[in-house]
Amino acid sequence: MLVGIDFDNTLARYHRAFHAAALARGWIAADVPADKTAVRDRLRAQPGGEGRWVELQFEVYTAGLAQAELPAGARRLLDWCREAGVAVAIVSHKPEYAAADHGRSRSLRAAARAWIAAHGLDAAAGAGVWFEDTRAAKAARVASLGCTHHLDDLPEVFTDPAFPSQVRGLLIDGDAGWETALAALRDDRAAERAAESLAGMPAALSPLPGGGNARLWRARLADGRAAVLKRYRDDGRQRDATEVAALRLCAEHGLAGVPQVLGAADGWALLTALPGARPQPPYLPGDLDGLAAWAGRFWALSRRRPAFAPASEACLEAGDLPRWLARRRARCEALGDGSAALALLRAEADPLIAEACRRLPEPPAEQDRCLNPSDFGFHNALRTPDGSLALVDFEFFGWDDPAKLAGDALLHPGSALAPGERADLRPRLLAALPAADLTSRLAAMLPALCASWAMIVLNPLLAGGAGGHDRLASARAYLALGHRLLAGKDLCDA
Ligand SMILES: [Mg+2]
Repeated sequence: MLVGIDFDNTLARYHRAFHAAALARGWIAADVPADKTAVRDRLRAQPGGEGRWVELQFEVYTAGLAQAELPAGARRLLDWCREAGVAVAIVSHKPEYAAADHGRSRSLRAAARAWIAAHGLDAAAGAGVWFEDTRAAKAARVASLGCTHHLDDLPEVFTDPAFPSQVRGLLIDGDAGWETALAALRDDRAAERAAESLAGMPAALSPLPGGGNARLWRARLADGRAAVLKRYRDDGRQRDATEVAALRLCAEHGLAGVPQVLGAADGWALLTALPGARPQPPYLPGDLDGLAAWAGRFWALSRRRPAFAPASEACLEAGDLPRWLARRRARCEALGDGSAALALLRAEADPLIAEACRRLPEPPAEQDRCLNPSDFGFHNALRTPDGSLALVDFEFFGWDDPAKLAGDALLHPGSALAPGERADLRPRLLAALPAADLTSRLAAMLPALCASWAMIVLNPLLAGGAGGHDRLASARAYLALGHRLLAGKDLCDA
């Protein structure tokens, strides 16, 4: 790990320095706040104020730099870096001389170096102090040093075309910025240690967005392999143990196209990285074939009867699905506060659940059970360079009713299938899962699954999250579909 830190207004804070210098010249009254922007605005409001502001900057960035402050949060972060053995570089956009310094009399860089030395930061910046002439050169320096993180007060540094995409930019926006940055560095350091311990070799990490319930990092191992480090959410569901066991089962039975487990311990897993990108709607016929082929592979694997626990919210016995629905419904009620979401559930979901549960099919016979990834859809798939579909995310894997597998594949909001795509996928799934009476059993289970998905999409909204309008609309669509199915319509009727 190597942390780059900007100098001006990040490490060196100038509010008091500007205030003191302007006061000393009699250019501002004492009631102007000790804030750089407030001082600048007050000067610019005066006749000839822009010239005074330029003069003041020259003063503060040279002789007056001694008045600049090192934020307490910066000191804490640098202390942590030293204790954790994390290297630091100071990387700054700072020309040698100010544009106004026509005689080149006072070096801006020399003043900054003196401040750095005076604050004992030479040793802290073990990876060097770098001053660059332009912002682009600064971004290029962050890249050439191999920084994994860069801390800066200017968000535009992170969006500069020369700023390396794999570097995590941490905005220092006042005191809170230092605390947030330190927390992020601690997290990423713990991840780096976990990856190195699991791989048995050094690893370079960069955080990956997304991951839903897990946190993800891209890892490049010292031997050149690409991997993904996963830190599982601890919600008592043993997501890590389930996923690792599922992936090992796939490997044992020769199922390619899923990550391999390089190591796992204590809520972390290091998995091989698969090439490819998540398919986006509208889906290609090959994507639908690929998803159905996976259903077929799980069906074939199930015929070998490997020992495995039930899937998350499995429907293996009569009464399982009504129980899961009741539990979800109670959780929604406990979270909600009389909001539109709760009103919708009371008006539309409750009657749907009651009638759908009356019509649920008998559970599958023992020989017709199937292993189910339980979070099965294009949101957990990658279209690989050879066109085949790879699957990730097996945290809820286990034995289940194949009608549940097929129903979730058709309804999952992460796939967001159009009615025509559902019509194309359904026969493919039914062909891939030759369980007895699956067509009628799937049709009988779908209304209850619609109610379940309506509650799942509303859950973050009930918990106070954002995206209210979209979530309400999505839940309404699931509930309307459930009611249409009960009225005898087909899933794929638009
Ligand atoms: Mg700056």
